[in-house]
Amino acid sequence: MSEQLIRAVLIALLAALFALPVGYFVAPWMGWAIFCAGLGLQMVFHFRNFTRLDQWSKAPVVDSSLEGEGAWDGIFGRLYRHEKDLRNQIAVRDEEISRVIAAVQALTDGVVSLDLNNQIVFCNTTAEAQLGLVLRVDQGQPIVNLVRQPEFVAYLDAEDFSRPLTLRSERSEDRVLSIYVIPYAGNRRLMQIKDVTQTDRLDRMRRDFVANVSHELRTPLTVLAGFLETLQEIELDREERDRYLTMMAEQSKRMESIVQDLLTLSSIESAPPPANEVVDMANLIDKLRRDAEALSAGRHRVVVETEGHSDLRGSEPELVSAFGNLVANAVRYTPAGGTVSISWKTSPQGAEFAVQDTGIGIDAKHIPRLTERFYRVDRGRSRDAGGTGLGLAIVKHSLNRHQAQLNIRSTPGVGSRFACSFPASRVAGA
Ligand code: ADP
Repeated sequence: MSEQLIRAVLIALLAALFALPVGYFVAPWMGWAIFCAGLGLQMVFHFRNFTRLDQWSKAPVVDSSLEGEGAWDGIFGRLYRHEKDLRNQIAVRDEEISRVIAAVQALTDGVVSLDLNNQIVFCNTTAEAQLGLVLRVDQGQPIVNLVRQPEFVAYLDAEDFSRPLTLRSERSEDRVLSIYVIPYAGNRRLMQIKDVTQTDRLDRMRRDFVANVSHELRTPLTVLAGFLETLQEIELDREERDRYLTMMAEQSKRMESIVQDLLTLSSIESAPPPANEVVDMANLIDKLRRDAEALSAGRHRVVVETEGHSDLRGSEPELVSAFGNLVANAVRYTPAGGTVSISWKTSPQGAEFAVQDTGIGIDAKHIPRLTERFYRVDRGRSRDAGGTGLGLAIVKHSLNRHQAQLNIRSTPGVGSRFACSFPASRVAGA
């Protein structure tokens, strides 16, 4: 029997103990009245506590307001402790959930959780940015209503998630996403979205590069193979034979130049940051002038203009290669009788090395692409001039490594100016 029941029976017995003698000796109605009053008081007492419990249960507050009387105090105490434990557990669980959400938000990959109908349950901010979702608004929406690209819809429908889906972002064509779907908890799905734009770009660049190199080398190789075949099969007189051999030498020279420029590019790319050695600019410019005159063979006027006596800090071979390419281009793309000017100027902001010519010039639409590997305005002209299409790529790389910028100004039929601007930190007072 419970404690409360024993108490209730004892109080009823106590009331009966008082009521019986009064009812026997004084008057029976009085005995009954005392007995009923005893029971009534007990009922009032229980009703009061019950009402208090009823009110508290509607809005449980964990403070001292829940106090019971008599046997109710034990019940109230247990309820109070239970409620308090429950609240503590919820607080701990809330904190754990917040930590998990914060970790998922911190992921650089997008994460979207979907229910069995592919409706959005949760997504992190990365996924919001990648797919253009707004969790607050889109929660509960089928994801295919928001990401409508047919390949995505078909991928979810096919339910074959053994391979990720590569998707070009609807918001920005340049952005490439790789979507993995991981089924979990029965029919639920977790979408992991990786931004593979950079890898995709590098992959494309690598493929283009291999295709370009193969193409560039195949042309002279084909010509060389053709000449060889002719020499093997046809009896030629000495003069003709020498002519063929000269042309073969030209083709092999061309291949050698391409390979040499490729090696230069690759060594610049993989080299550690350029040294800080002081490069004697007076010497270097003198060497560039002599090289220009040798290449021009008297067909151009070569002018040198220098202002100030400062030098550059950096890697001499890289700077020689970069400046040498600009000077060689100026000579090669300037018809006979033109002028090639080499200038070196310093200012408090830095220094500028420039090569200006009065050559064929370049149409404005080509200028942004000139430093791409193998990009030429006129393929035939570049080939005839002995170009590889890699010169300005080498220039750009070397300059980048010296925190310098290449500025190109050109007018077709008038001439071009290629200027390399170096920051003050790269300039050494002579
Ligand atoms: P290339 O070996 O073909 O000269 P570059 O990378 O050095 O390759 O130059 C890329 C292209 O830029 C050239 O093919 C040429 O069309 C153009 N170019 C470069 N320098 C000049 C210049 N000084 N005048 C006119 N065109 C130039």
